[in-house]
Formats: sequence, C-alpha cells, structure tokens
Amino acid sequence: MNVLPLKKGIIYGPVHSRRLGLSLGINLLPTDKKYCSFNCIYCHYGFNDVHTLELKDETDQVPTPQEVKQALEDYLKKDKNINYITFSGNGEPTLHPHFPEMVDIVKKVRDEYVPEVKVTILSNSSTVDRPEIRKALEKIDLRIMKLDCGNEKTWRLLNQPFKTLSYEKTVENLKKLKGIIIQTIFVKGRVDNTKDEEVDGWISRLNQIRPDEVQIYTCDRPVPDKGVEKVPKDVLKKIAEKAEKKTKIPVKVF
Ligand code: SF4
Repeated sequence: MNVLPLKKGIIYGPVHSRRLGLSLGINLLPTDKKYCSFNCIYCHYGFNDVHTLELKDETDQVPTPQEVKQALEDYLKKDKNINYITFSGNGEPTLHPHFPEMVDIVKKVRDEYVPEVKVTILSNSSTVDRPEIRKALEKIDLRIMKLDCGNEKTWRLLNQPFKTLSYEKTVENLKKLKGIIIQTIFVKGRVDNTKDEEVDGWISRLNQIRPDEVQIYTCDRPVPDKGVEKVPKDVLKKIAEKAEKKTKIPVKVF
C-alpha cells in the first residue's frame, strides 16, 4: 500500500475528522518534500526527505505569514461551515520559522470570520523545550500533543526523533503546558508499545504530565514500514480502561 501524498498548499480540507468534526487544515510546511523532526515508522506521509529541527525562510515553499493570512481569508470568505481550524499538514507545524506569528495571525482571522470556531494543533511535542513555542501553544484553544510511549528506547525506535532531542526533556516540558490533550498511537510488530511494561511506563508518564484528556488510536492508514501492524480495537479499549483507572484522566479510543 502506498503512503499518502503530501498536501499541495497552505489550506486543505475541510477534513472529516473522527476527533474534530469538520476540520480545516493549515499546512505551514513545504509541499515538495517531507520535513519533520520525527520520522515515525507509521507516518502516513512516508519517511522524511529531510530530518530537521529547523526550517529556514529560504527553505523552498515555506509560506510567509502574509500568505497564510491571505489563504485563510480567501477560504473563509467562501465557506464558514467548519468546526476547527487545525495546524497540522506535511510534518511538525511548530518547525515553521515564524510559528508564533502564525498563531497570532490565524487567531485574528478566525476572530473576524468564524469567532465560534476553535483553533487547534496536532504537534509531535519536539519543540516544547522552546519557551517561545510554549507561549504560542498556550494561545491555541486545543493543543493535541504526541507522546507514544513511556521510555527513550521505544521513542527512538517508534518515532525516530532528531538525534539531539531528549525523551526526558520532552516529558519535563510537556508538564509545563496546562490543559493539553495527549495523543498516542499504538502499534504492534517490529516495535510494540502495547506490551504490559510499555503501557505501564506510558501511564506513569501520563501521571507526571497530567493532561486534561488522552486520545489513543492505531494506524488505519498506509504506513512506510512493513513491520508495523495495527492494534485491534479491543486491545486499545483495555489499554484505555487501565490508563483511566490508574490516572483518573479520561482516555478516549478513536
Ligand atoms: S510526527 Fe507526524 S508528520 Fe512527523 S513523522 Fe511522525 S507522524 Fe509523520
């Protein structure tokens, strides 16, 4: 099965999302190559062309704040029937060199055209060590932050983070963000984060971070690594029950 093509522009969708309803996507990343600070073995866009923690203005096709403003305004002038405006797209949105400015611009356009719509982000949590990114994230209505496991070894195998990133520091900095949602993908096969000791470690991290909610799911789209297997729904439900019992945090299965 082939992986999915990259988004072709700044605005995409709206996408019918199981979690968010009608979600209008904003892609701040290049459209010619995949740039990400992770290289997850289950990524439905395939493996990275560029593994990086930095995107520079001169990188091909990084949109400017003015271009994002214009693209969002043009869309919302024609269609206001959406539930969320979501920073996501072709990789990690916070890598954009002007991410804090993008948040301010998108919120301003939202306030003008669709004030009842929430702004959200799907982030892999790789930049939460940067105070300016945490400050920008705090302005976003719904922060959905990735944490797929409870230890550095599995994190390196499953998410293949950029070499200078640290699992422990990521958890420490996620603790500083209040009112977040943690999202976790469970997989079996070459890497298996559903084993009892893996799930227990992940639960103890949830207890440290104390998000408002946890969302778990498995890969139901094409993946680049043939060793990645889906997790049956009943296994996900058992993991959710155990995590809820041990953390008293709502854990939803998608
Ligand atoms: S963080 Fe997201 S975009 Fe980046 S490699 Fe992982 S799944 Fe793909």
